[in-house]
Formats: sequence, structure tokens, C-alpha cells
Amino acid sequence: MRGQAPRSRGACLRAHGGIDKAARVGHITRAPMTLLDSLPPHARSFDRIDTWVFDLDNTLYPSSCRLYVEVEQRMTRYIMDELRLDRDGAHALRRRYFQEHGTTLRGLMNEYGIEPRHFLDYVHEIDVSAVKPAPALGRALAALPGRKLVFTNGTRRHAERVLDRLELAEHFAAIHDIVAVDYQPKPDAAGYRDLIETYAVVPSRAAMVEDMARNLPPAAALGMTTVWLRGGPHAEVDVAHAASIHHTIDDLTAFLAALSLAVE
Ligand SMILES: [Mg+2]
Repeated sequence: MRGQAPRSRGACLRAHGGIDKAARVGHITRAPMTLLDSLPPHARSFDRIDTWVFDLDNTLYPSSCRLYVEVEQRMTRYIMDELRLDRDGAHALRRRYFQEHGTTLRGLMNEYGIEPRHFLDYVHEIDVSAVKPAPALGRALAALPGRKLVFTNGTRRHAERVLDRLELAEHFAAIHDIVAVDYQPKPDAAGYRDLIETYAVVPSRAAMVEDMARNLPPAAALGMTTVWLRGGPHAEVDVAHAASIHHTIDDLTAFLAALSLAVE
């Protein structure tokens, strides 16, 4: 298009964030600057990655779709009905389970022995029409070398509904859902090991993209390269998580599109 340059690697670097000024100054004599030149000192390159593991919710679609709001409301309603709590009590319990057990479901299973399938079917029966087709992300995924997997704390049915809305299903080789990991949600390391075993993933050749920073340490500990997509509803990151974040991005489509150019 006249007067509009193709997306540059500079755009990707801005999307990365977290690249300190000192690192850029250190490379200023090397021209042209490439994506891989400019990564922060602890960052890893992507040129050997052959498997991409993507979280689903608030990662493959933007958190501005606010699907999580309805899921959280339905979780609260479920707890009110099953445990006969008022709304405030149910909300407080849900938050405590999320912190102490990883997910509300795991807390309900551990402390009340609830049947997980019923809970999952109930909370995921939401309106997903806010999720729109993502053709630019589709092009970026198609151009990105390697196999792509979805690893979600939700159900396969939920993932399939969302991917259908995004029109991205064709790009993913498999969906590893909460049932596949025997209801051990991220960040429980058991699920990551199960993913690696099931799909013969070589961790040193795998990258994981997530909007929840707390789900990245197990991937990093297993040897995977980690990418944190910040801006989600649970965006807090503490020091313990930061050490396991190799890359920080703000825009998944821009990041993947620029990366495809860099690793060609
Ligand atoms: Mg997520």
C-alpha cells in the first residue's frame, strides 16, 4: 500500500516490551538491527522452535472480549447453588480456590469432591459471540514454522467453540484440555509433563505463550521458551514469575508475524 511500509521488525520489538535501553545501546553499532539481536540478555531465540504451545483464553482472543466475566459469574452461581452460599460467600470462596488450588474447579474437587464434568459443562456454557474472526492472526500462525498446540484449563468443547469463532481451528494440531490432564490445571507441573509426553514435545524446541504469568514457570523449568502476553485480567507478575519469563509481548499477532519474518 502506498505510503505504508510493511510491518517492520521494529514494530515487533515495541510489541516485545521489556527490552531495556542499555541492551539497545549495546547493539547500536550493528546494523541492520534484527529481532534476535535485540532481545534482552535472558531471552532465547526462536529459530529452533518446532512446537508452539498456546494458552486459549485471553491469549488467542483478546481479554477485551470479556468471556472470563461470564465464566466467573457462572462459577459463582454454581457455588451458590451447590454449597448454598450467598453471592459474597461464593465469590470469596472462588477467589480463594483460584489462589490456593490453581482453579476454582480444583478447589471444589479437593475440598468438596464435586464431579468435575458437571461443573465444567455448566461454567463454559457461555455466549462466545464477542469473539470475532482473526484473519491476521490466522495468517501469522500459517506463516509460523512448527506445530501449534492449544493447552487450556478449559474444556475441549469450549476451545473448539472459541477456535471456530476465531476461524483458527485449522492451525492447531491438538487441544490439550483440562480433562486430558486429569483435572490438574496449569500451573500444576503434571499437566505440562503430560503434554510433553502425549505429543512428543522436545522442551528445548518448544515455546509456550500465555497471558497468565504464573502459568509460565513450569514450562521454563522443563526447558521451554516462554512468552508472556501481558494485559490479561490476571496480569499481576511477581518476582518468582519474572525469572521464568523469557519474552514479554503486548500483541500476539504482531509478535508472530514479525517472528515469521525473522526466522525465515
Ligand atoms: Mg489465559
